[in-house]
Amino acid sequence: MSRRWQATMLAAFVALIACSSAPRAQTSSLALEQEVRQLGLEQEIRQRAAQIENKLIAWRRDIHEHPELGEQEVRTAALVAEHLRKLGLDVRTGVANTGVVALLKGGRPGPVVALRADMDALPVKEPAGLPFASRAKGKYLGREVDVMHACGHDAHTAILMATAEILTAMKDKLPGTVKFIFQPAEEGPSLYTAFTGKSWGAKLMIQQGVLADPRPDAVFGLHVTSGMSSGRIGYRPGAAMASADELRIKVTGRQGHAGVPWRAVDPITTTAQIVLGAQTIVSRRTDLMKSPAVVSISTINGGSRFNIVPETVEMTGTIRTYDPDVRKGVHADLKQIAENIAASANAKADVEIIELYDVLMNPEEMATRMAPVLGRAADGSIQVVTPSGAAEDFSFFLNEVPGLFFHLGVRGQDTADAAPNHSPNFFIDEKALVVGVRALAGMTVNYLTGTKAD
Ligand SMILES: [Zn+2]
Ligand SMILES: [Zn+2]
Repeated sequence: MSRRWQATMLAAFVALIACSSAPRAQTSSLALEQEVRQLGLEQEIRQRAAQIENKLIAWRRDIHEHPELGEQEVRTAALVAEHLRKLGLDVRTGVANTGVVALLKGGRPGPVVALRADMDALPVKEPAGLPFASRAKGKYLGREVDVMHACGHDAHTAILMATAEILTAMKDKLPGTVKFIFQPAEEGPSLYTAFTGKSWGAKLMIQQGVLADPRPDAVFGLHVTSGMSSGRIGYRPGAAMASADELRIKVTGRQGHAGVPWRAVDPITTTAQIVLGAQTIVSRRTDLMKSPAVVSISTINGGSRFNIVPETVEMTGTIRTYDPDVRKGVHADLKQIAENIAASANAKADVEIIELYDVLMNPEEMATRMAPVLGRAADGSIQVVTPSGAAEDFSFFLNEVPGLFFHLGVRGQDTADAAPNHSPNFFIDEKALVVGVRALAGMTVNYLTGTKAD
């Protein structure tokens, strides 16, 4: 037990004794009793997490060595389902293709808490080095690719497996139900492109009823990051992670001879003007006091020969925002600018925007309530972080149910310039994993024991 935690515990007991010797309002005495009970449960979680830490790390290494792409997490899902069944939980598989959902009923009635981990890996080649480095291959949009857990979802899965084991061991003390959600395809599908109108990952799980029967009252999740030192927790009330959309613009002109361009309509010069016009969306038209925003054109493809004006040029890019209204505005501006610039050149622009992930909004109230729990789980190593430029489909769960998504630092000591998530050199200091377990289990017991069921 850490000294800081011991001190917190002691202070709570002293306060309780002081309360019982002096007459006070009954509500504050109940609140103190509740706090002491919470601290006792957190102590039990800490002990149980320490006892299974080796198992937790072994799971993470096993999953790391055998990574699988979105909607192909067959081995991972089987490993998870087998573990959950052994715990005696009610397990459902095949949710959103490869997702696994399990239900733990506590000893007494109460609210429902959902905990989520994502299971998918990325088409990244892992360098040799770790004894459990991935040598796995997979199919990504029909091509054979190397696969690696370069975003740390191996850690998320192992952390939630351990959390399920601990909470199951404590189930008699839990008033309420815990729903464990092991989600596929957070990074997107790997068998088809995002432009087919299909849903995947969190969104598909929700469409298939993961938030029904029973409906969670709160949902919690985490993401590991090399942006913070190992075991440190970062959270942000409000807009914490960006919305992410993919944009596609097809500019159509009229093909002709590049030596006589006046007899053609040139989609290349039109594209150049659209790229520059798009820069004014953020710099001139977006209320940046309300939300930062990004519009990036990332690919341009067109043309076949030096003396031919091509018929078409295609662009793709991404849009990021932290406010739903700003997001809508950026979409409208992009369409207007692209279509009208094209029209001014007698060309045509078709703009397609695929909304991939919503802004991830942590309700302020939940963040305020859970911050002390997270602080104790991380032995005081906690901070409020700036919004992340990355996106997360956990946002779809938070659209439906209040909750909290936080970041867990996994950066080892000597790597201040550690490789970011998605890099082939992304590295996880495994000492952090147990902190993730303490945090998820701690928030769960806090919510269950401190919330009245409807
Ligand atoms: Zn990722
Ligand atoms: Zn991720």
